[in-house]
Parts: sequence; C-alpha cells; structure tokens
Amino acid sequence: MAIKSISLIVHRTLDVKNWLLRPPTAKEARPGRCPRCHCASRPAGGALGLHGHGQRDRQILGPPEVNSASTMTIVACRRYLCTACGAVVMVVPRGVEPRRHYGRAAICLALALWALAGQPTTVVRTRVCAWPGRETTSWRTLARWAAAIAAGIWPWCRAARGLGPRAAAGRAAQIAAGSAPPMTAVPIWDLAYAGGAALI
Ligand SMILES: [Zn+2]
Repeated sequence: MAIKSISLIVHRTLDVKNWLLRPPTAKEARPGRCPRCHCASRPAGGALGLHGHGQRDRQILGPPEVNSASTMTIVACRRYLCTACGAVVMVVPRGVEPRRHYGRAAICLALALWALAGQPTTVVRTRVCAWPGRETTSWRTLARWAAAIAAGIWPWCRAARGLGPRAAAGRAAQIAAGSAPPMTAVPIWDLAYAGGAALI
C-alpha cells in the first residue's frame, strides 16, 4: 500500500522531557484510533488496527531548559501502520510544533522575550537559536513564527489571528504563559516556556 502522508498525533500526557526520561513502548504510545480512517487501534476481540511501525528520530531545536544553551535534542518518536487504510501515524511528545524544527517551548520563549519583554531580535536569537552564529542582524525564523501566528496557522494561538506580527507574538506568548503549571516569582518568559512545553 502506498504511503500518502504521515499523520502526526501529539501524545496526551508525555512532554519531551518525560518522553526522553522513559521512552514509551509501542503499546504505551499506541493511539486509540487511526486519525485518518478512525478505525479502532485495539478492537475488542479483533486484530490490532494500528501496528507498531518502528521509531523515527525527530530533531527538536531550542534550549532543553529555559536557562540552558540552545541545542538539538533527538527524540525517538513512535510510528504505527493502519491495517485498514495504510496510513502511517507518528506519535510525538507534547511540545512538538508540527512542521517546525524548534520545540514549542523554545518558540514561546522567543515570542515572550521579543514581544513582551521588548528584547532586541539579536538578544532573542542568541538565547534561542540553535546556531546563533549564522545570521548577524536579524532572525528570520522569529519573523516567520510571528507571521504564522498572525495568519492563524497554529490552533493553540488562533486567538492572535489578524493582529500585527509583534502583537500576535505577544498574544501567543500570553496564551502559552497561561497554560504553565503554577510557578511563583518567575518572569513571564519562563512561564511562556513552561506553557509551551505543556500545550497540546
Ligand atoms: Zn486508518
């Protein structure tokens, strides 16, 4: 059966940090149903609908902790093959932003530093960019994130749609900060980082 595309599913509970600490088995990460044909993955009394299909490494860029240096983290994501429709389904941890190289925590940290704390792009880039030496005067990646948010592309911050790029970035950072677990006496960008890691 030809593979048309890979469907991405974000794990309900495991974030990147916990996934790395104890990677889930094929059984533990198996989704309840196929996201394309909605077939049950474990029908009662029947054969498995979603078969384990190995693992695939995914790179996640950004600081692994809010105050650490930016780097590349490799996460072995779980793949499944749907026996009904042939879809390949990949399960990734929370905090992975589909179709982006950077993790959502890093993105939200950058948005908060730039749009809420008023930090210059160069400072934001030094802190969040995994290759800070590459560009010197601007950071196009940050501008692309702001544009994606203003265009309403990311479901979790669709409330920022239609705003100007910086206002949209600030609104998204606030949404992320609002999703952070309770933390006291930390700056708003720490909250945005923690919320970004936890958002589904
Ligand atoms: Zn299917």
